[in-house]
Amino acid sequence: MMRRYRLAFLLSAVLIGLCSAAPAAQQPPNLIVIFCDDLGYGDLGCFGHPTIRTPHLNRMAAEGMKFTQFYAAAPVCTPSRAALMTGRLPLRNGMCSNTRRVLFPDSKGGLPSEEITIAEALKAKGYATACIGKWHLGHLPPFLPTNHGFDVYFGIPYSNDMDRIADAPRGREAFWQPKIEYWNVPLMRQTQIIERPADQTTITRRYTEEAQRFIRERRDGPFFLYLPHSMPHVPLFRTPEFTDRSLRGLYGDVIEELDWSVGQVLETVREAGIAENTLVMFTSDNGPWLTFDQQGGSAGLLRDGKGSTWDGGMRVPTLAWWPGTVAAGSVCAGLASTMDIFATAHAMAGIELPRDRVLDTHDLTPLLRSSGASTRDTFFYYRAYELMAVRWGPWKAHFMTQAAYGQPKPETHDPPVLYHLEHDPSEKYDVAGQHPEVLEKIRELVAEHRKTLEPAPSQLEL
Ligand code: MG
Repeated sequence: MMRRYRLAFLLSAVLIGLCSAAPAAQQPPNLIVIFCDDLGYGDLGCFGHPTIRTPHLNRMAAEGMKFTQFYAAAPVCTPSRAALMTGRLPLRNGMCSNTRRVLFPDSKGGLPSEEITIAEALKAKGYATACIGKWHLGHLPPFLPTNHGFDVYFGIPYSNDMDRIADAPRGREAFWQPKIEYWNVPLMRQTQIIERPADQTTITRRYTEEAQRFIRERRDGPFFLYLPHSMPHVPLFRTPEFTDRSLRGLYGDVIEELDWSVGQVLETVREAGIAENTLVMFTSDNGPWLTFDQQGGSAGLLRDGKGSTWDGGMRVPTLAWWPGTVAAGSVCAGLASTMDIFATAHAMAGIELPRDRVLDTHDLTPLLRSSGASTRDTFFYYRAYELMAVRWGPWKAHFMTQAAYGQPKPETHDPPVLYHLEHDPSEKYDVAGQHPEVLEKIRELVAEHRKTLEPAPSQLEL
């Protein structure tokens, strides 16, 4: 009799133990998005750079998934960020312009409040949310991160090369020997300016420390951490610890500090014991700013860079890490986009996607969980309101082309020029003549796509 009681006691103790462990297992996963500024496709060791050392990103790739055909939604900052946050092409919410390509310190507009951001969606499901880094979706109060679903904001509200002081060296001279006082950029905490000019030499380190603190404080989760670094957008700055360290010079120093930062973030996640319940995505907002010579990055074998709808402007080096869920050392060569993080976040948190608006997002969770195929077979390349090119599977048709710099007007192509990007990633060999059926199909896709368009008035021209 006694023994039976003892057995029942043991069984119930085991059951209580199992039950108390259950909520943690059922808790929706955390999401961390690390978003670099102007990092090129060819700038990481794990994407083939010969002299920039990125051991932490290489490890992240070895433990997770590398995406080789992953696209930012736009070739410049503001539209790219708006699309990531909302899962929608920038022309659907007015976060682009044919005349002012990004928001500036004198801009009056920003991301409209009717838009649903990833942070707002996740916050409604009980997530703690933080934006640590460069925002660039409106610096006036209604548009700040704290009014777009983020509990916490620490960072600069627009690019680090804005608010240039009148007596800084002229032209690009200021960038070759940058000093923090040349750019009177504010650093903000929540809605207040706490430092001006922001000390950019320590900014990567401070973003990292803020991110680590947020992770530790919110380890019981769930949380969403958006970490949009200000670097490696020019002017380039790094801490003394990373000065004159890289074989690649100043640009390499900056990337190696970003790599260190990624290592710190992942280590903090591991130490908190939440690695198996945390998806970390690492990517970039657009391609390298090639016009800044050696202080701009590299698109590797891709054509052109930031500002252009050639692939170098929009295809970005991307990694996903989620131990126990994403297969270690996996590679996804299917199409995917920063816009897909929106549906992915919804799926992870068990939230329905909004049905009252057109979305441009695909859920990546099936692909992440099983290394399965991508569900995205098209990608529309916009320069502001202009549809420049369309990708369909391996094919890319350009209706218009325009170099990032030095070509004031686009060149129109009728018939379009056509490249097979899996055979010809550098977009060198026009095969339109041999594949009229592909152009036909792409024209049909464009006609379908155009039916979904109701371009919103530009926020960037306000
Ligand atoms: Mg950028």
